Amino acid sequence: MKYTVLGAGAMGLRYGVLLQEAGFDVDFVDTWEPQVETVREQGGVYVSRDGQNRHLVPVNVYYPEEYKGDPDVLIVFTKQYQLADFLKRCSRFFNDKQYVVTCMNGNGMGHVEKLNQYFPKERLLGGTALIGTVLNKAGDVDFIGPKGAGSMNIANETEKPDAMTHQIVDEFQQAGLNPNLTTNFLGTLMAKVVFNSVINTLCTMFKIRMGEYIQSPVAQKLGVQLIDEAFDVCERAGITLLNTRQEEWETVKYVSTVSNPLHFPSMYQDISKNRQTEVDYINGYIYDLGLKYHYEAKTHDFLRNLVHLAEFAGTFDVDGYMKSVLESDKKAAVKTPEQHVAEA
Ligand code: NAD
Repeated sequence: MKYTVLGAGAMGLRYGVLLQEAGFDVDFVDTWEPQVETVREQGGVYVSRDGQNRHLVPVNVYYPEEYKGDPDVLIVFTKQYQLADFLKRCSRFFNDKQYVVTCMNGNGMGHVEKLNQYFPKERLLGGTALIGTVLNKAGDVDFIGPKGAGSMNIANETEKPDAMTHQIVDEFQQAGLNPNLTTNFLGTLMAKVVFNSVINTLCTMFKIRMGEYIQSPVAQKLGVQLIDEAFDVCERAGITLLNTRQEEWETVKYVSTVSNPLHFPSMYQDISKNRQTEVDYINGYIYDLGLKYHYEAKTHDFLRNLVHLAEFAGTFDVDGYMKSVLESDKKAAVKTPEQHVAEA
């Protein structure tokens, strides 16, 4: 089938390049100018694996307004807060046959609701990508983990797989994406939200890798408290998660210790580049969902606000000035020690 990836960032490139390498026809559409222009200038994207074997892979990338392709399947990988605008710009090439697949992180007034404005639930597959990818800079991506590592869960929004679903899953399998088809849509998406609410958030705030977090003597206490609150919310909301509480903690432990110890979660990558995080769609979503059922997941709300504080702190430079303050204003505001003495 023909695939078009909307959002040629870290994950969009990973899915698209793997499908292309498996022999499928893939186009990329992106709105971030440095990405589109760099890829065009280079004649492709530089791909490495765990920082090794950096090589150029030719890819076709377009701005939404110029794209003329007619894909069977759209694969969507933007950040949550970019999606509404992105879809609006792409809507001119959407049609009523296309299926859409997304494994974006987060939930709640997020990607599913926005995608449903263009695609009915019969043609929407949502899932979770259990894999790490880093966009080093425009036109340069690093696939974390050896070839064939990583997996994904995927489910139809209707929870009823059809022939097209099986074909997509089969082609994703050929591309080495290791898809696991489930028939529990919300439970599948929420499992990753809960996982990220622990690992993404805590590693981001303390600027540590997953393998560093898990070695801490308080890792389990922190993780279990967050998992418990999230499960309390899901139980009230009638969402059956894929795992039990104990299994969820074991997953956090396994992924942090064995599968991905060297990985900085994607939210950390955002903070370190002074970009907005997706915390409102992760810990924020758990808190907001709880409120609907008269339950306050207070730890998740507290962590959401701490991450917002970390985002805000990133707007200051080393001297403590807002980065938006002009150099000339800074000079006017700073007094030398001599001036202080003279004024005293
Ligand atoms: P990304 O930021 O690499 O790419 C998303 C979009 O942002 C692309 O259009 C990209 O071109 C653009 N972009 C990249 N850098 C930018 C910058 N500095 N300024 C402005 N635009 C920029 O995002 P991603 O990591 O591919 O994540 C997409 C979705 O997948 C998110 O929901 C994320 O949570 C989820 N996810 C990511 C990972 C991961 O390891 N990266 C793993 C699982 C799920």
